[in-house]
Amino acid sequence: MNDTMHAVRVYGPGDYRYEEIPKPECPDGGLLVRVAACGLCGSDLRTLRYGHRKVHFPWVIGHEITGRIVENRIRGENPWDEGLYLSVPPVVYCGTCEFCRKGVPELCLNYKEIAQAWPGGFAEYIALPPEIIQNSAIQPLPEGSDPEISTLAEPLSSCINAMEKGNVGRGDTVVIMGAGPIGALHLELARTRDAGKVIIADISENRLDTIRNLQPDAVINAARKNIVKEVREMTEGAGADVIITANPVPETQVQAVEMAKKGGRILLFGGLPKNNSKPGIDTNLVHYNALHLIGTTIFAPRHHQEALKLLASGEIHARKIISHTLPLTDFDKGVKLALEGKARKVVFKP
Ligand SMILES: [Zn+2]
Ligand SMILES: [Zn+2]
Repeated sequence: MNDTMHAVRVYGPGDYRYEEIPKPECPDGGLLVRVAACGLCGSDLRTLRYGHRKVHFPWVIGHEITGRIVENRIRGENPWDEGLYLSVPPVVYCGTCEFCRKGVPELCLNYKEIAQAWPGGFAEYIALPPEIIQNSAIQPLPEGSDPEISTLAEPLSSCINAMEKGNVGRGDTVVIMGAGPIGALHLELARTRDAGKVIIADISENRLDTIRNLQPDAVINAARKNIVKEVREMTEGAGADVIITANPVPETQVQAVEMAKKGGRILLFGGLPKNNSKPGIDTNLVHYNALHLIGTTIFAPRHHQEALKLLASGEIHARKIISHTLPLTDFDKGVKLALEGKARKVVFKP
């Protein structure tokens, strides 16, 4: 067989090409999926610009994937009928470490990711070998799902995990630092959890403008205003119950601690640059105000299930978060729009 398909391959920092490459074969014991849609993630942009230690070029990236099963070579009875639409989350747990065995796979010691260990979704087809079928959270799209909207399931799953660990709930005043797609998802999610006031802060007037269509209770331009003072004023001096840092800027973690209410929770959602990850947090504030600094990364299958349900039900206003849907031939255009801050969420349809 020498079938080909179209895909975007990354050759190095700043060098990516839309080209014809061999179409993968359906793996023995696995599935072949026709990609329906694949979202462009902030981490993809980082890999496109700087490379990634786990990505060996040339490589197909893209990890916010939905698609339709076109071939099934799993032996015996299985639920994966041809024609079925799937959400294909990138995380593949090891299934054997202490945490996987204890039922907290979000702490898996050896997880691998699609688009790193296996080729990703900026391609017409993706092969899912048995290891992925058995140890990932892939599942059929729920009734009423849109494959394009469902690409948000991956980032949303991480947000759900963070909010669960931070126990975000009824009446909480939540400050989200970062008005990008992740900030927008946190805002929508906070609403589904009956948060009280949701305040969004960012240094980009552009991003703040676009997030206004989701109607946050307040927005703060952190480039122009003292955000700690603003949040204190908005909360009668008490501070916020929950602060989520959805950005890569170290200073925001310092500010988060300064604007927290006594007993408040700070969700460190965005990672920092690896050579600049020790911001000067006043740990006396953490101590005397009994604050909770909470780190989370990835998610468990149950978070992914919840994400798909929320997206299918329309509770998360995905159409207001996805700003551009483009054919894969327009990959370069989509990347540039995202890098220039002119797009919120870009989804490609290969
Ligand atoms: Zn992502
Ligand atoms: Zn594990």
